[in-house]
Amino acid sequence: MFPPGVHKILETLNQAGYEAYVVGGAVRDILLGRRPKEFDICTDACPRAVLDIAAKNNIKAFRKGAAFGVISWILEGQEYEIATFRTETYGEDAHRPEKVEFVWALEDDLARRDFTVNAMAMDRAGTVIDPLGGREDLRRGLLRAVGDPEERFAEDALRMFRACRFVAEYGFRVERQTRDAIGKALGRVAGLSVERVRDELDKLLVAPYAADGLELMRGTGLLTTECRCRADGREQIVAVLPEVARLVHIEQNPRYHTLDVWGHTLRVVANIPPEPVLRWAALLHDIAKGSPGVRCLNKHGEPSDYGHARVGADMARKILNRLRVPPAITRRVVWLVRHHMNFPGPERRPVIKWLRRLAASFAGRADLAEAVRQLLELRSADLRGGKVDPEYLLKENDLLQGMVEKVLWQVPFYPEDLAVSGGDVAEIMGRGPQVKRTLDDLVASVQAGRLENHREVLLAALKRKAARLCNR
Ligand code: ATP
Ligand code: MG
Repeated sequence: MFPPGVHKILETLNQAGYEAYVVGGAVRDILLGRRPKEFDICTDACPRAVLDIAAKNNIKAFRKGAAFGVISWILEGQEYEIATFRTETYGEDAHRPEKVEFVWALEDDLARRDFTVNAMAMDRAGTVIDPLGGREDLRRGLLRAVGDPEERFAEDALRMFRACRFVAEYGFRVERQTRDAIGKALGRVAGLSVERVRDELDKLLVAPYAADGLELMRGTGLLTTECRCRADGREQIVAVLPEVARLVHIEQNPRYHTLDVWGHTLRVVANIPPEPVLRWAALLHDIAKGSPGVRCLNKHGEPSDYGHARVGADMARKILNRLRVPPAITRRVVWLVRHHMNFPGPERRPVIKWLRRLAASFAGRADLAEAVRQLLELRSADLRGGKVDPEYLLKENDLLQGMVEKVLWQVPFYPEDLAVSGGDVAEIMGRGPQVKRTLDDLVASVQAGRLENHREVLLAALKRKAARLCNR
């Protein structure tokens, strides 16, 4: 049931005369038949005793979170956290408890946890201790706050985002009162740091039921809340995702779309592989639709969003910067949003031309290949996200992908892809700025099929060019 290291910890603490349990997420996951990400352990031994027991048993141990009474033990190179049973009292802070007290009863420790499905413990023999009905809720697929949900969310506003994240990860329904309580504690989000909110968003986005988690965020009002950020020594207010909430009920041209922009966005998120870049791009790809300056009526009087990819890329950059998303992810997502509307037919020449244009944004062929793979994933998910009759374009997209894979490694897109180097060029033409220019010319000539990318062919062409220049 437990890995040997976990079993050993429970046994060692029990033999020293203390209670010890696996608790929280690991119990939930074991009952669901999933492999737990980590094993958190709790005990009635005080932190000092947990350290002493480790020392007596020659186990490496150190204090982890002194304020919370957490000690880490290292077994077989693996770190396990052992927490003394505790209760928490909350105050001003929107996330961190004001006071932590160690307690003797496991039940008191379980009662401080966020949701019933996270508030179960399991002893060494595999017996589940479940005073709050977590197991039944788990069976019913129900996420329910422990105790009074309004109090729970008022104590720690991050729990509201965790609720959405657990919905996204497990496909839970949210119990009625728990859901209603989110609407009442939205003001507390103002005290959360943007990094904490963003971390939950990141986890939600790559989860199997991300669309359900996002819909819960929208329906409860969490998308339109504001959190805080410290920058340049000053506190700033940071909007969570109001631009995304705005997409609901934005109608699209029924000639091409079966869903409004929000419904479509959720489908695209659900359809795309769960990679952070792809999920963010899916969420933001149509972010400018319906916005002033983009939304207009075409000559048939139907809604149209000409230029939404360009405006959307700017909006995506602002959103991701404000949420402190790492720059490398932001750059790629912005690029994907910017380019998600223009694709060539799947024939060789237009594909090379298209790739040549895209290549300018990247340092080399591996980067370009990865970005184009992501762009075609986005297009495929976009087409499967409620477009009218997507079959023809989906087939085109597959053909385009095949052609990209073929030409990307056959044709050079950067000087490094040529069969000659800058040194070769300098030797024949002399050093100076003409080296870079000549390499670029060679890339263009090979792309156009005027030269083959073989060393002898390119050297001969260079010599011809040098002779021509000499004879001038
Ligand atoms: P994951 O599988 O994502 O790690 P988890 O349930 O293990 O999910 P953790 O953040 O690792 O979540 O926390 C471990 C346990 O601590 C939770 O199962 C829950 O019992 C408790 N917990 C964590 N965060 C909170 C919180 N903000 N409020 C109350 N209890 C919490
Ligand atoms: Mg965990």
